[in-house]
Amino acid sequence: MKKEPVLQLCDVSFAYYGGQQALRRVSLSVCEGEKIALLGPNGAGKSTLFLCMNGVLTPKEGAVCYRGVKVSAKNRNELRRGVGIIFQDADSQIIAPTVRAEISFGPMNLKLPKEEVVRRVENAAAVMNLQGFADRPPHNLSGGEKKRVGIADILAMDPDVFLFDEPTASLDPENAQQLENVLDLLGRRGKAVVVSTHDVDFAYRWADRALVLQRGTLLADGTPPAVFAQEALCREANLKSPVLLRMEKMLEQKNLLKEKGRAPRTVEELEKLLVV
Ligand code: ADP
Repeated sequence: MKKEPVLQLCDVSFAYYGGQQALRRVSLSVCEGEKIALLGPNGAGKSTLFLCMNGVLTPKEGAVCYRGVKVSAKNRNELRRGVGIIFQDADSQIIAPTVRAEISFGPMNLKLPKEEVVRRVENAAAVMNLQGFADRPPHNLSGGEKKRVGIADILAMDPDVFLFDEPTASLDPENAQQLENVLDLLGRRGKAVVVSTHDVDFAYRWADRALVLQRGTLLADGTPPAVFAQEALCREANLKSPVLLRMEKMLEQKNLLKEKGRAPRTVEELEKLLVV
């Protein structure tokens, strides 16, 4: 059954004050439970796209629709509640004196009953492995811990769509793996997750869909194997080929794979295809 889009952008263009054109006629939709990687070089417009997707920026042209309704000044708050951004720099997001107050801030702003606020804060802290941190000042935490608090902030708001801006940038391998588990968990709970990343190997194994943005234009929107198969496009957007895809091609050329074109997404899937 075809899923209904939660969020749709139709011919969205955005220019910053001073004339810098950051998005050019971008159209895309995001459905419940989708796991989407947003790829593209620095300056491609990824952050601007996120800010248009949650209503912080208003497109100069085109439309944003949330749950089928065109967003305007009147209903922009619904979009902001429904679409949460986890910024790359956790410091820019964190404002409260303790971790508990920080995670409570969003649900309290939603004017939820106190018990619901407590339930959400405890749940978000547990998912992000932050039990025991409740009374700590966020600004004294390590980069990775702050990042987890920033994610817990948005989890506690319970939006439909999560936008992660380069989430693994400051994380060590263990925390990066834990974050990937959280991204999968959100997908299983029916949340749509969009992750802007330069990590093509992560995008290839994790995402259902890959979007490629270059100079404000959406160059590609498809499954990761279909997108990375377009060599000219990857060159244009400065995208390296994922290691698994390179391995698959190499093994295929040497006739060491049982089937061609299966596009394994994990090392284990590739191993199963090996002629032994
Ligand atoms: P990305 O997130 O892919 O690195 P951005 O969305 O940050 O790209 O930037 C897209 C373009 O918009 C770039 O050319 C950038 O210089 C410009 N830009 C971003 N923020 C601003 C701003 N506040 N004022 C003017 N130009 C900006």
